[in-house]
Amino acid sequence: MLITCPQCLTKTRIATSRAISHETRELYCQCLNLNCGKTFVAHISFSHFIQSTGKKPDFDLQPELRKDNGQLEIFEHA
Ligand SMILES: [Zn+2]
Repeated sequence: MLITCPQCLTKTRIATSRAISHETRELYCQCLNLNCGKTFVAHISFSHFIQSTGKKPDFDLQPELRKDNGQLEIFEHA
């Protein structure tokens, strides 16, 4: 998971985390930019369930599946 520093927008390290509730987790983050080095707390929380549609992958959401296009063509010719 990538959390960016709110001060300098550099990648951070999640030092530790703890559950606040079943749907929310508190992350303790440290900026990896040596010229910034801010430490801060962030929250991640459940948003909503995704309904299965049976449609082809959305490559904007899952670009890593684009390289498997050859396998998807099998279904197009069936
Ligand atoms: Zn920073």
